[in-house]
Amino acid sequence: MIYFDHNASTPVRPEAAAAMGSALAELHANPSSSHRDGQRARVAIEHAREQVAALVHVRADEVVFTSGGTEGDHAALIGAAWAAEPRGRRVAFSAIEHHAVHGAAEVLARTGFAASHLGVGREGLVDPAAVAALPPDTTVVAVMLANNETGVIQPLAAIAAAAAARGMRVVCDAVQAAGKIPIRRDDLGADFLVISGHKLGGPKGAGALIVRRGAPLAALFRGSAHERGRRGGTENVPGIVGLGIAAELAAREVAGENARLLALRERFEALLRASVPGVVVHGAGAPRLPNTVNASFPSARSDHLLLALDSRGLAASAGAACASGGVEPSPVLRAMGVPRELAICAVRFSLGRTTTADEVERAAVIVADAVRLVRSTQGAVT
Ligand code: PLP
Repeated sequence: MIYFDHNASTPVRPEAAAAMGSALAELHANPSSSHRDGQRARVAIEHAREQVAALVHVRADEVVFTSGGTEGDHAALIGAAWAAEPRGRRVAFSAIEHHAVHGAAEVLARTGFAASHLGVGREGLVDPAAVAALPPDTTVVAVMLANNETGVIQPLAAIAAAAAARGMRVVCDAVQAAGKIPIRRDDLGADFLVISGHKLGGPKGAGALIVRRGAPLAALFRGSAHERGRRGGTENVPGIVGLGIAAELAAREVAGENARLLALRERFEALLRASVPGVVVHGAGAPRLPNTVNASFPSARSDHLLLALDSRGLAASAGAACASGGVEPSPVLRAMGVPRELAICAVRFSLGRTTTADEVERAAVIVADAVRLVRSTQGAVT
């Protein structure tokens, strides 16, 4: 199987898996216990905190361990909105945010908070100037660093500057960007940065929320003072250890991997353009993650295509969701103004650390073959 679905989840680094195995076997004590066994677990957590902090160039005490991206998005958006409640009860987020951010806004809506949306242009980019038009009771703005479907990278520094000028806090979901492009939190200007282990070679169920010193945050999980009162709950020691190792390796390799993946992706796109008539690459005119290609193959519905790809040994994914016999186009592509009939023919290919040049060549042949088959067997695209 050729695995081109690294944005969904990328393999755990062997070094992380080995360290997690040892932590599971040996670091059984509660890291909050004062005895020696407890303190050994504590030391492992604090080492991982340094490793994660180094990945995004922040101080270790700004790192709060979470269960991953979904929790991080909730903790940041809800926690920042609660902390700013005296100034307003509205958050804003871009139309292309991950479901986790939409979900966090739904939680806020249940307690009377309002939400505003920032649209995107044809290439999937948020216009920083749109921040100036947000209603004055907006206290928190959430814009992701890189989109999970298209890989499009947002002009975060300009967005954060526009938000700061209006006294708004900025939540940045960096789940897809972390480990794929170099990140310096201070260059982005975000107050809260969200990271997930399983997107960068660590385990599922472990992640981090980076909280800028002094940025007000009301804890979502309460009842105990873990993580300096910012996230209650006994720490997932093996998960945190695995996340730490993955973060350290990613930091070390990001520059080289970035260049290697970009060359592979460019080759893959060139092959697709040469062998599949009518292919459209979404967000091609914007800065993008080096590993992500989101392409529509007109007249070949993505659910049919994914099956044909899978049976030929290529794993990819679609933003479109199957709904009662038909397909619903990806909200991300719709927000970019992609027509419905094109959006339901989109497939995301995401390359990663294990991807080879040979796989790229073979994958392009498989795609061309699958598109031909689907186009020849499929009736009108609906
Ligand atoms: N944010 C983005 C951009 C993602 O791509 C994902 C996962 O697909 C998440 C958040 C959720 O992360 P997790 O799976 O760790 O909950």
